Amino acid sequence: MLSVALTCASTIVVSLLFGAAMMIAWREFGLRRYVVWWGASFVLAACAHSGRLMGVIMTDPYRLWMLLQCLLLIFSFTILTLGFYRRAGLRARSLFVLVALSIIALGVAWMVSDSDERSPLRFITATTMAIQIAMILLSLRTTQGTALIARSILILYGLYLTVVAIAACLYWSGQAVNDPVFYLIVMMGSPTALVGAGILTLIIIASDLSSELRELAHTDPLTGMLNRRGLMAWANRLTCSDMTTMTLVLADLDRFKQINDTLGHGAGDQILIAFADHLRRGFGPGDVIARIGGEEFVILLPSTPIESARRQVEEVRRSITPAMLSISAGVNVTASFGIVQEIRGEILDDILKRADIELYRAKAAGRDIVMMQGMAANR
Ligand code: GH3
Ligand code: MG
Ligand code: MG
Repeated sequence: MLSVALTCASTIVVSLLFGAAMMIAWREFGLRRYVVWWGASFVLAACAHSGRLMGVIMTDPYRLWMLLQCLLLIFSFTILTLGFYRRAGLRARSLFVLVALSIIALGVAWMVSDSDERSPLRFITATTMAIQIAMILLSLRTTQGTALIARSILILYGLYLTVVAIAACLYWSGQAVNDPVFYLIVMMGSPTALVGAGILTLIIIASDLSSELRELAHTDPLTGMLNRRGLMAWANRLTCSDMTTMTLVLADLDRFKQINDTLGHGAGDQILIAFADHLRRGFGPGDVIARIGGEEFVILLPSTPIESARRQVEEVRRSITPAMLSISAGVNVTASFGIVQEIRGEILDDILKRADIELYRAKAAGRDIVMMQGMAANR
């Protein structure tokens, strides 16, 4: 009994520690709703294990403590699952139906089974939790990286809960499993599973944070496009895949400093946003557009031959009108473009340098021009 009480007590402490860690993560890392659900779920798990501890210490009324523990465990798991559903943006109606059914089943089992019978309660609780694990698994959509690790841990957890449910069932029918065997299964598996779930949820929080930070580091806040760092990451991915030679376009607004000086920085920003939208409309979904400097943009056309890229860019340049940019008619905005084709194996910096030369030629030739490698500089 002492060992059971000690295991319960340490499980309570560990649950509370995980609950506290989640609450700190919630407060410090952007108040994500699902993190607070997870934190609350570990606090409830601590309450559930306190119920078990009370059942061990105060053997009477044991079945009442048992019922309380089962209910709290189901609530704790429900909140954990709810956190996963919120994270995935899913509706939790099926989860609530499951919980309602489980509570009814627990109530009926508690009332109809005789005073010594605990296995129906254990069976219902373990089965509900195993189903909730399956629901959590379904909520993890991606199958790479952290999600893959999470899946493996959850599958193990689900299998363990299934073993507990089967053991409770065998106990119930008076076969093979008796009290010590059942306690061995629960006492060995339960703390491990709890620690596993705690570590798993913390890993997911850390991984969500790191992908959010990566996204922020790769995005230009003004236009929402990739920035230079984001472009580099994209280009690495493109060169890693077996793609046909790509074409790169460097675009630069003409005399933008003058526009800023005349209209003000705020109006300049609006023009940058409008120009970014114009580029988005002008190129396909497979093309990558980035703002790599103040009024400088790069468009990567992964599988477009340079000549058709030039026609496309020419169309984009011609359609830079105040109406297209939704700015006042008196403002004259133009842009110059330099186009080059990637030489196989060339790094992005080198392609950019060549594109810069073409852009410089476009500026030198009077601006509002598309200049392509090998093209004569006369208009
Ligand atoms: P050119 O035709 O030769 O390209 O001339 P330019 O004036 O466009 O080029 P320059 O490089 O001299 O000036 C670029 C200007 O872009 C200077 C800077 O004030 C402005 N700029 C850079 N970033 C931003 C921004 O985020 N918002 C606004 N409004 N202006 C910016
Ligand atoms: Mg410029
Ligand atoms: Mg510039």
